[in-house]
Amino acid sequence: MDSAKRSIGTEYYPSLPSMMNRMQATGRALGLQAHDRDAYVEWRRNLREKLAELTGLGRMIPCDLLPQEMGEPRLLDGYRREKLRIQTEPDVWMPFYVLVPDGLEEGEKRPVVIAAHGHLGGGKESVAGVADHPAVRQAIEEYGYDYGVQLVRQGYVVLCPDARGFGERREYWMQGDEASQVLGASCNHLNHAAVAMGHALIGWLTWDLQRLIDFIPSLPYADADRIGCVGFSGGGMQALWLAAMDERVRAVVVSGYFSGYRDVLLLGTHCGCNYVPRLWEYADYGDIGALVAPRPMLVESGDDDRNSGPRRLANVTEQLDVTRKAYALFGSEDRLVHAFCRGGHRWYGERTAEFLEHAL
Ligand SMILES: [Zn+2]
Repeated sequence: MDSAKRSIGTEYYPSLPSMMNRMQATGRALGLQAHDRDAYVEWRRNLREKLAELTGLGRMIPCDLLPQEMGEPRLLDGYRREKLRIQTEPDVWMPFYVLVPDGLEEGEKRPVVIAAHGHLGGGKESVAGVADHPAVRQAIEEYGYDYGVQLVRQGYVVLCPDARGFGERREYWMQGDEASQVLGASCNHLNHAAVAMGHALIGWLTWDLQRLIDFIPSLPYADADRIGCVGFSGGGMQALWLAAMDERVRAVVVSGYFSGYRDVLLLGTHCGCNYVPRLWEYADYGDIGALVAPRPMLVESGDDDRNSGPRRLANVTEQLDVTRKAYALFGSEDRLVHAFCRGGHRWYGERTAEFLEHAL
Protein backbone atom coordinates (compact mmCIF):
# COMPACT_ATOMS: atom_id res chain seq x y z
CA MET A 1 0.00 0.00 0.00
CA ASP A 2 1.21 3.49 -0.84
CA SER A 3 2.23 4.96 2.51
CA ALA A 4 1.21 8.47 1.38
CA LYS A 5 -2.39 7.26 1.09
CA ARG A 6 -2.54 5.33 4.35
CA SER A 7 -5.14 6.67 6.77
CA ILE A 8 -4.23 7.25 10.43
CA GLY A 9 -7.67 6.02 11.45
CA THR A 10 -11.37 6.43 10.86
CA GLU A 11 -12.20 7.82 14.27
CA TYR A 12 -11.34 11.34 15.37
CA TYR A 13 -11.04 12.79 18.85
CA PRO A 14 -11.48 16.57 18.52
CA SER A 15 -11.39 18.96 21.48
CA LEU A 16 -13.87 21.58 20.27
CA PRO A 17 -17.09 19.93 21.59
CA SER A 18 -15.69 20.02 25.10
CA MET A 19 -14.55 23.62 24.66
CA MET A 20 -18.02 24.59 23.38
CA ASN A 21 -19.61 23.10 26.49
CA ARG A 22 -17.12 24.81 28.72
CA MET A 23 -17.82 28.17 27.10
CA GLN A 24 -21.55 27.59 27.42
CA ALA A 25 -21.23 26.85 31.14
CA THR A 26 -18.93 29.71 32.09
CA GLY A 27 -18.19 33.25 31.10
CA ARG A 28 -19.65 36.76 30.82
CA ALA A 29 -18.86 37.64 34.41
CA LEU A 30 -19.35 41.29 33.40
CA GLY A 31 -22.26 40.69 31.00
CA LEU A 32 -24.94 43.40 30.92
CA GLN A 33 -27.21 43.07 33.93
CA ALA A 34 -28.16 46.67 34.68
CA HIS A 35 -31.83 47.41 35.39
CA ASP A 36 -31.62 51.20 35.47
CA ARG A 37 -29.43 53.94 34.00
CA ASP A 38 -27.30 54.48 37.13
CA ALA A 39 -26.48 50.79 37.32
CA TYR A 40 -25.76 50.81 33.58
CA VAL A 41 -23.28 53.67 33.91
CA GLU A 42 -21.46 51.83 36.69
CA TRP A 43 -21.48 48.56 34.67
CA ARG A 44 -20.15 50.41 31.63
CA ARG A 45 -17.26 51.87 33.63
CA ASN A 46 -16.37 48.44 35.03
CA LEU A 47 -16.48 46.65 31.68
CA ARG A 48 -14.51 49.38 29.91
CA GLU A 49 -11.87 49.15 32.63
CA LYS A 50 -11.69 45.37 32.21
CA LEU A 51 -11.48 45.57 28.40
CA ALA A 52 -8.71 48.18 28.66
CA GLU A 53 -6.84 45.75 30.92
CA LEU A 54 -7.40 42.68 28.71
CA THR A 55 -6.43 44.41 25.45
CA GLY A 56 -3.57 46.49 26.86
CA LEU A 57 -5.43 49.66 25.86
CA GLY A 58 -4.78 51.01 29.35
CA ARG A 59 -1.03 50.48 28.99
CA MET A 60 -0.28 52.20 25.70
CA ILE A 61 2.41 54.89 25.43
CA PRO A 62 1.17 58.41 24.57
CA CYS A 63 3.27 60.62 22.31
CA ASP A 64 3.08 63.69 20.08
CA LEU A 65 1.05 63.05 16.94
CA LEU A 66 3.52 64.93 14.71
CA PRO A 67 1.08 65.06 11.75
CA GLN A 68 2.74 65.20 8.33
CA GLU A 69 1.34 65.61 4.83
CA MET A 70 2.48 62.88 2.46
CA GLY A 71 2.60 64.22 -1.08
CA GLU A 72 0.25 66.42 -3.04
CA PRO A 73 -3.57 66.22 -2.79
CA ARG A 74 -5.35 64.50 -5.70
CA LEU A 75 -8.45 66.10 -7.23
CA LEU A 76 -11.03 63.44 -8.08
CA ASP A 77 -14.66 63.17 -9.14
CA GLY A 78 -16.58 65.04 -6.45
CA TYR A 79 -13.85 65.11 -3.80
CA ARG A 80 -10.20 65.72 -2.96
CA ARG A 81 -7.90 63.02 -1.56
CA GLU A 82 -5.08 63.98 0.79
CA LYS A 83 -2.59 61.65 2.42
CA LEU A 84 -1.16 62.21 5.89
CA ARG A 85 0.44 60.30 8.72
CA ILE A 86 0.46 60.63 12.50
CA GLN A 87 2.53 59.01 15.23
CA THR A 88 0.26 56.96 17.50
CA GLU A 89 2.92 55.56 19.85
CA PRO A 90 6.64 56.38 19.87
CA ASP A 91 7.96 55.23 16.45
CA VAL A 92 4.57 53.82 15.42
CA TRP A 93 3.19 55.66 12.38
CA MET A 94 -0.29 55.47 10.93
CA PRO A 95 -0.78 56.68 7.33
CA PHE A 96 -4.30 57.63 6.30
CA TYR A 97 -6.26 59.26 3.53
CA VAL A 98 -8.51 62.25 4.10
CA LEU A 99 -11.32 62.48 1.57
CA VAL A 100 -12.77 66.02 1.42
CA PRO A 101 -16.04 66.62 -0.44
CA ASP A 102 -16.23 69.32 -3.11
CA GLY A 103 -18.39 72.35 -2.55
CA LEU A 104 -17.33 73.37 0.97
CA GLU A 105 -18.16 77.01 1.74
CA GLU A 106 -15.55 79.28 3.32
CA GLY A 107 -15.29 78.28 7.02
CA GLU A 108 -17.81 75.45 6.69
CA LYS A 109 -17.30 72.35 8.83
CA ARG A 110 -18.64 68.92 7.90
CA PRO A 111 -19.27 65.81 10.01
CA VAL A 112 -16.41 63.32 9.94
CA VAL A 113 -16.58 59.58 9.35
CA ILE A 114 -13.70 57.26 10.15
CA ALA A 115 -13.88 54.39 7.65
CA ALA A 116 -11.96 51.38 8.98
CA HIS A 117 -10.96 48.45 6.77
CA GLY A 118 -10.94 44.71 7.31
CA HIS A 119 -8.88 41.93 5.72
CA LEU A 120 -8.25 41.27 2.01
CA GLY A 121 -8.62 44.83 0.73
CA GLY A 122 -5.05 46.18 0.82
CA GLY A 123 -5.81 48.18 3.99
CA LYS A 124 -7.04 51.72 3.41
CA GLU A 125 -6.58 51.51 -0.39
CA SER A 126 -9.85 49.70 -1.14
CA VAL A 127 -11.90 51.77 1.33
CA ALA A 128 -10.56 55.00 -0.22
CA GLY A 129 -11.12 53.63 -3.73
CA VAL A 130 -7.42 53.75 -4.64
CA ALA A 131 -7.73 50.98 -7.19
CA ASP A 132 -4.44 51.27 -9.10
CA HIS A 133 -3.48 47.69 -8.16
CA PRO A 134 -5.69 45.07 -9.88
CA ALA A 135 -6.00 43.06 -6.66
CA VAL A 136 -7.46 46.08 -4.86
CA ARG A 137 -9.79 46.70 -7.78
CA GLN A 138 -11.06 43.14 -7.50
CA ALA A 139 -11.51 43.41 -3.72
CA ILE A 140 -13.64 46.53 -4.20
CA GLU A 141 -15.87 44.63 -6.62
CA GLU A 142 -16.09 41.51 -4.48
CA TYR A 143 -16.82 43.15 -1.13
CA GLY A 144 -18.21 46.60 -2.05
CA TYR A 145 -15.10 47.81 -0.24
CA ASP A 146 -14.94 51.48 -1.36
CA TYR A 147 -17.35 52.77 1.27
CA GLY A 148 -15.01 55.70 2.03
CA VAL A 149 -15.72 57.04 -1.47
CA GLN A 150 -19.44 56.37 -1.09
CA LEU A 151 -19.43 58.45 2.11
CA VAL A 152 -17.43 61.42 0.80
CA ARG A 153 -19.87 61.61 -2.10
CA GLN A 154 -22.62 61.89 0.51
CA GLY A 155 -20.86 65.00 1.84
CA TYR A 156 -18.82 63.72 4.80
CA VAL A 157 -15.16 64.29 5.48
CA VAL A 158 -13.85 60.71 5.50
CA LEU A 159 -10.69 59.40 7.14
CA CYS A 160 -9.36 56.05 5.87
CA PRO A 161 -6.47 54.77 8.00
CA ASP A 162 -4.26 51.71 7.68
CA ALA A 163 -4.54 49.43 10.72
CA ARG A 164 -1.34 47.95 12.15
CA GLY A 165 -0.23 45.06 9.98
CA PHE A 166 -2.16 46.13 6.85
CA GLY A 167 -1.46 48.20 3.72
CA GLU A 168 1.57 50.41 4.26
CA ARG A 169 1.88 49.05 7.80
CA ARG A 170 2.67 45.45 6.78
CA GLU A 171 5.69 43.93 8.48
CA TYR A 172 8.74 42.96 6.41
CA TRP A 173 7.69 39.43 5.45
CA MET A 174 4.43 40.61 3.89
CA GLN A 175 5.78 43.67 2.06
CA GLY A 176 5.72 43.63 -1.75
CA ASP A 177 3.42 44.11 -4.72
CA GLU A 178 2.27 40.57 -5.47
CA ALA A 179 -1.52 40.26 -5.10
CA SER A 180 -1.11 37.89 -2.13
CA GLN A 181 1.12 40.44 -0.40
CA VAL A 182 -1.00 43.49 -1.21
CA LEU A 183 -4.17 41.81 0.07
CA GLY A 184 -2.34 40.00 2.86
CA ALA A 185 -1.54 41.31 6.31
CA SER A 186 0.72 40.77 9.32
CA CYS A 187 -2.15 41.04 11.80
CA ASN A 188 -2.13 37.40 12.89
CA HIS A 189 1.54 37.44 13.82
CA LEU A 190 1.26 40.89 15.43
CA ASN A 191 -1.52 39.57 17.63
CA HIS A 192 0.65 36.62 18.68
CA ALA A 193 3.35 39.08 19.68
CA ALA A 194 0.82 41.34 21.40
CA VAL A 195 -0.61 38.42 23.39
CA ALA A 196 2.88 37.43 24.52
CA MET A 197 3.24 40.97 25.87
CA GLY A 198 -0.09 40.83 27.72
CA HIS A 199 -1.86 42.91 25.06
CA ALA A 200 -4.15 42.15 22.12
CA LEU A 201 -4.05 43.66 18.64
CA ILE A 202 -7.63 44.90 19.06
CA GLY A 203 -6.37 47.19 21.83
CA TRP A 204 -3.62 48.57 19.59
CA LEU A 205 -6.04 49.21 16.72
CA THR A 206 -8.50 50.95 19.05
CA TRP A 207 -5.73 53.13 20.46
CA ASP A 208 -4.62 54.18 16.98
CA LEU A 209 -8.16 55.20 16.00
CA GLN A 210 -8.47 57.18 19.24
CA ARG A 211 -5.34 59.09 18.24
CA LEU A 212 -6.93 59.75 14.85
CA ILE A 213 -9.89 61.29 16.70
CA ASP A 214 -7.39 63.45 18.65
CA PHE A 215 -6.13 64.72 15.30
CA ILE A 216 -9.54 65.65 13.83
CA PRO A 217 -9.86 69.13 15.46
CA SER A 218 -6.79 70.26 13.52
CA LEU A 219 -8.61 69.80 10.20
CA PRO A 220 -10.22 73.22 9.53
CA TYR A 221 -13.16 71.76 7.57
CA ALA A 222 -13.95 68.97 10.09
CA ASP A 223 -16.65 69.22 12.75
CA ALA A 224 -15.01 67.41 15.69
CA ASP A 225 -18.32 67.27 17.58
CA ARG A 226 -19.90 65.13 14.86
CA ILE A 227 -17.73 62.06 14.45
CA GLY A 228 -18.96 58.70 13.19
CA CYS A 229 -17.17 55.45 12.52
CA VAL A 230 -17.99 52.73 10.00
CA GLY A 231 -16.36 49.48 8.98
CA PHE A 232 -16.87 46.14 7.31
CA SER A 233 -15.62 42.81 8.70
CA GLY A 234 -12.38 43.53 10.60
CA GLY A 235 -13.27 47.19 10.02
CA GLY A 236 -16.59 46.48 11.77
CA MET A 237 -14.58 45.05 14.64
CA GLN A 238 -12.51 48.25 14.83
CA ALA A 239 -15.59 50.49 14.56
CA LEU A 240 -17.42 48.57 17.28
CA TRP A 241 -14.51 48.60 19.72
CA LEU A 242 -13.78 52.28 19.08
CA ALA A 243 -17.40 53.30 19.69
CA ALA A 244 -17.61 51.03 22.74
CA MET A 245 -14.49 52.52 24.32
CA ASP A 246 -14.68 56.17 23.23
CA GLU A 247 -17.70 58.43 23.76
CA ARG A 248 -16.44 60.90 21.15
CA VAL A 249 -17.86 58.57 18.49
CA ARG A 250 -21.44 59.77 18.05
CA ALA A 251 -22.65 57.04 15.71
CA VAL A 252 -21.31 53.74 14.41
CA VAL A 253 -21.98 51.35 11.53
CA VAL A 254 -20.82 47.76 12.09
CA SER A 255 -21.08 45.67 8.92
CA GLY A 256 -20.40 41.94 8.71
CA TYR A 257 -18.96 41.60 12.18
CA PHE A 258 -21.58 41.66 14.97
CA SER A 259 -22.14 38.10 16.21
CA GLY A 260 -21.64 35.79 19.20
CA TYR A 261 -18.11 34.92 20.26
CA ARG A 262 -18.66 31.23 20.90
CA ASP A 263 -19.93 30.15 17.47
CA VAL A 264 -17.63 32.42 15.56
CA LEU A 265 -14.34 32.05 17.34
CA LEU A 266 -14.57 28.35 18.17
CA LEU A 267 -16.39 26.98 15.12
CA GLY A 268 -15.24 29.57 12.60
CA THR A 269 -11.83 29.96 11.05
CA HIS A 270 -11.25 33.60 11.81
CA CYS A 271 -7.88 35.25 11.62
CA GLY A 272 -5.99 35.23 14.93
CA CYS A 273 -6.25 39.02 15.18
CA ASN A 274 -9.88 38.62 16.36
CA TYR A 275 -8.90 36.95 19.61
CA VAL A 276 -8.53 38.70 22.95
CA PRO A 277 -7.22 36.43 25.71
CA ARG A 278 -9.79 35.88 28.49
CA LEU A 279 -12.43 38.07 26.80
CA TRP A 280 -15.04 35.34 27.10
CA GLU A 281 -14.65 35.25 30.88
CA TYR A 282 -16.13 38.75 31.00
CA ALA A 283 -18.19 39.66 27.94
CA ASP A 284 -19.61 38.70 24.59
CA TYR A 285 -20.15 40.96 21.60
CA GLY A 286 -23.70 41.89 22.66
CA ASP A 287 -22.20 43.32 25.85
CA ILE A 288 -19.56 45.27 23.93
CA GLY A 289 -22.36 46.64 21.73
CA ALA A 290 -24.22 47.63 24.90
CA LEU A 291 -21.32 49.94 25.78
CA VAL A 292 -22.33 52.10 22.79
CA ALA A 293 -25.84 52.84 24.13
CA PRO A 294 -27.63 55.17 23.74
CA ARG A 295 -25.59 56.45 20.79
CA PRO A 296 -26.94 55.42 17.37
CA MET A 297 -25.64 52.10 16.03
CA LEU A 298 -26.43 50.39 12.73
CA VAL A 299 -25.58 46.69 12.49
CA GLU A 300 -25.57 45.30 8.97
CA SER A 301 -25.71 41.52 8.36
CA GLY A 302 -25.87 39.39 5.25
CA ASP A 303 -28.27 36.50 5.85
CA ASP A 304 -25.74 34.06 4.41
CA ASP A 305 -22.59 35.53 5.93
CA ARG A 306 -20.43 32.55 6.92
CA ASN A 307 -18.49 34.83 9.27
CA SER A 308 -21.54 34.86 11.56
CA GLY A 309 -20.95 31.17 12.23
CA PRO A 310 -22.99 28.10 11.25
CA ARG A 311 -26.22 29.46 12.78
CA ARG A 312 -25.90 32.63 10.66
CA LEU A 313 -28.41 35.34 11.68
CA ALA A 314 -29.50 33.55 14.88
CA ASN A 315 -25.99 34.18 16.19
CA VAL A 316 -26.38 37.89 15.40
CA THR A 317 -29.87 38.49 16.78
CA GLU A 318 -29.04 36.79 20.11
CA GLN A 319 -26.30 39.36 20.64
CA LEU A 320 -28.47 42.24 19.46
CA ASP A 321 -31.09 41.21 22.03
CA VAL A 322 -28.49 41.80 24.75
CA THR A 323 -27.43 45.14 23.28
CA ARG A 324 -31.04 46.25 22.89
CA LYS A 325 -31.58 45.94 26.66
CA ALA A 326 -29.05 48.73 27.20
CA TYR A 327 -30.83 50.97 24.65
CA ALA A 328 -34.15 50.22 26.34
CA LEU A 329 -32.82 51.67 29.61
CA PHE A 330 -32.66 55.01 27.78
CA GLY A 331 -35.92 54.56 25.87
CA SER A 332 -33.75 54.59 22.74
CA GLU A 333 -34.41 51.22 21.12
CA ASP A 334 -34.99 53.05 17.82
CA ARG A 335 -31.33 54.12 17.79
CA LEU A 336 -30.18 50.51 17.44
CA VAL A 337 -30.90 49.53 13.85
CA HIS A 338 -30.40 46.08 12.35
CA ALA A 339 -30.18 45.97 8.56
CA PHE A 340 -30.75 42.46 7.18
CA CYS A 341 -29.37 42.02 3.70
CA ARG A 342 -29.64 39.11 1.27
CA GLY A 343 -26.25 37.59 0.64
CA GLY A 344 -22.84 36.76 2.04
CA HIS A 345 -19.90 38.52 3.61
CA ARG A 346 -19.70 42.00 2.06
CA TRP A 347 -20.44 45.67 2.68
CA TYR A 348 -24.02 46.49 1.62
CA GLY A 349 -24.48 50.07 2.85
CA GLU A 350 -28.16 50.07 1.90
CA ARG A 351 -29.24 52.00 5.00
CA THR A 352 -26.00 53.76 5.89
CA ALA A 353 -26.72 57.12 4.22
CA GLU A 354 -30.14 57.52 5.85
CA PHE A 355 -28.80 56.33 9.22
CA LEU A 356 -25.81 58.71 9.29
CA GLU A 357 -27.90 61.64 8.11
CA HIS A 358 -30.07 61.32 11.23
CA ALA A 359 -27.30 60.22 13.59
CA LEU A 360 -24.59 62.80 12.85
ZN1 LIG B 1 -6.17 39.44 10.92
